[in-house]
Amino acid sequence: MRPIIGITGRKDTSARLVHSQMYSVGETYVHAVHQAGGAPVILPPMLAETDWTALLGRLDGLLLSGGEDLHPRQYGQFPEAWLGGVDETRDTSELGLIHAALEMQKPIFAICRGIQALNVALGGTLYQDLAAQVPGALDHAFLMSRSLDQSVHPVTLEADSTLARILGGVTFAVNSAHHQSIQTPGAGLRVVGCAPDGVIEAVELADYPFCIGVQWHPEALVRSDPAMASLFAALVEAASS
Ligand code: MN
Repeated sequence: MRPIIGITGRKDTSARLVHSQMYSVGETYVHAVHQAGGAPVILPPMLAETDWTALLGRLDGLLLSGGEDLHPRQYGQFPEAWLGGVDETRDTSELGLIHAALEMQKPIFAICRGIQALNVALGGTLYQDLAAQVPGALDHAFLMSRSLDQSVHPVTLEADSTLARILGGVTFAVNSAHHQSIQTPGAGLRVVGCAPDGVIEAVELADYPFCIGVQWHPEALVRSDPAMASLFAALVEAASS
């Protein structure tokens, strides 16, 4: 039986239909999970405390998708001028889900905003804007206006990391569509991959069955790079056991 993988969604106001306020998730996330053998379920970004454990009790794994910035109050900072758009309802919804998943030892795969949310849930902090706060940083937001199926910078992984084992190597070309990143890693998070400028691109939770985070978008690379598909296979495999 296919393991059920919950994928966090976002608020979407782009539609001009009767239901102009929608909850959505990029189809590449859904397809990546499905092609890896998981049964994907989209989770709305408005879940309350009573929902977190109820949902996690039925899910076999959690995929944290990309999206807007987390509000800095979640990591004890004030918003700077360069902060992007936020959705505090989603912050509450997602951070609660992460805590519930960690408590229940559910497999977690965190992508882009997801790695940032995972970090904040564990008490870490974020750079609110790399261009403004990290001198010499690459243009990590480069691809926000371009196609996500192109790789733009390398990531080098720790050779003994779970991610290096799954991906079958230590250096990978990745896409990049983020203007924030991890500043201080949260409790238990091991930094296992960085861009050439030192920006944190990959983490793993130590002493935990399966919890990995990447700052890039593997879901958009699964067709061109089989290694990226193996990340979703690893999530599904962890969720099956
Ligand atoms: Mn990047």
